[in-house]
Amino acid sequence: MLKFRIYGGFMKVYVSADLPRDLAERLSRAVEVVGRDRMGEAEAALCFRITPEELKSMPRLRFLQVITAGLDHLPWEAIPPHVVVAGNAGSNADAVAEFAVAMALGAYKRVIHYDRRMKRGEYGRDVGIPMAVGSKAAVLGLGEIGTRVAKMLAALGLRVYGFSRTRKEGPWVFTSDLLEAMAGARIAVSALPLNKHTRGLVKYQHLAAMDGEGVFVNVGRAEVVERGAVERILRERPGFIFASDVWWSRSDFAKDADIISLPNVVATPWVAGGYGNELVWRRMLEEAVDNLLRWVNGETPRNIARREDYV
Ligand code: NDP
Repeated sequence: MLKFRIYGGFMKVYVSADLPRDLAERLSRAVEVVGRDRMGEAEAALCFRITPEELKSMPRLRFLQVITAGLDHLPWEAIPPHVVVAGNAGSNADAVAEFAVAMALGAYKRVIHYDRRMKRGEYGRDVGIPMAVGSKAAVLGLGEIGTRVAKMLAALGLRVYGFSRTRKEGPWVFTSDLLEAMAGARIAVSALPLNKHTRGLVKYQHLAAMDGEGVFVNVGRAEVVERGAVERILRERPGFIFASDVWWSRSDFAKDADIISLPNVVATPWVAGGYGNELVWRRMLEEAVDNLLRWVNGETPRNIARREDYV
């Protein structure tokens, strides 16, 4: 690939992530990669996260490629409005979708419940095993993750309701009414991003509208669900299960120990995105580099964020 020339020089890209050698070489065949010492010259940046100070040091920045799917951790107020921000949705969506369905079924079919009992030496049976086939499921967010989850649940024979902002066709009943999606659902999976419209979107009334023995799975972001609503529903309905990979305390999981330790909670420490899996990791980096190069080559990048969702 020829290096993209701009103003008679190579386009300069600040990279703050560690790239495997072949990807780093591919990038440097197309652009001039600059380090921290030459950030001021960068027109584009590739990163997991970025600080307001870094942004201030890049007055020529026009494009920011983030390696994660979620963009809620960016210091949006410090990103100048003319800077185009692209996320990386889709790069680990298979991993998250598989995990969400595993969590949903493990909890709903009471696999986790009986495993915990057996390990405690309690070999007797107590709760019955509900059927998934023919039951209603709700998928919140019909993006890269949500559409995969919805297809998997539909393939298992559940009647899937898909809640999202933009209508999407698939093996689900589309609705933009959250209560309609969740009412009577036995399984609900949230794969919503956290933005100013989704923060606190799932309230007590939505959880309470689900089946009393239902399972709410969250693989998106914790703050989409009101913490107080979760505490209340878990206290009121011992048969209801809250299964989550994401926590209000972000990575300081001990701060959510009061909820995590409840018997009707299934908890994992933010691993759904393919934690520790080299292939998933590699694909995330590769897709981020591909997308950055789309912009460098004058094509339209994927996953361009809507600034108005965050600021
Ligand atoms: P996508 O961007 O592909 O999908 C997001 C979906 O949510 C889109 O369909 C979007 O609709 C919809 N949406 C956004 N805002 C609203 C709203 N206000 N009301 C209703 N629907 C809305 O992202 P992914 O599916 O790849 O990922 C989703 C989230 O999952 C990420 O943002 C991240 O937070 C989380 N995640 C968690 C991981 C983990 O390890 N647990 C790993 C990876 C991601 P529209 O098309 O109209 O914008």
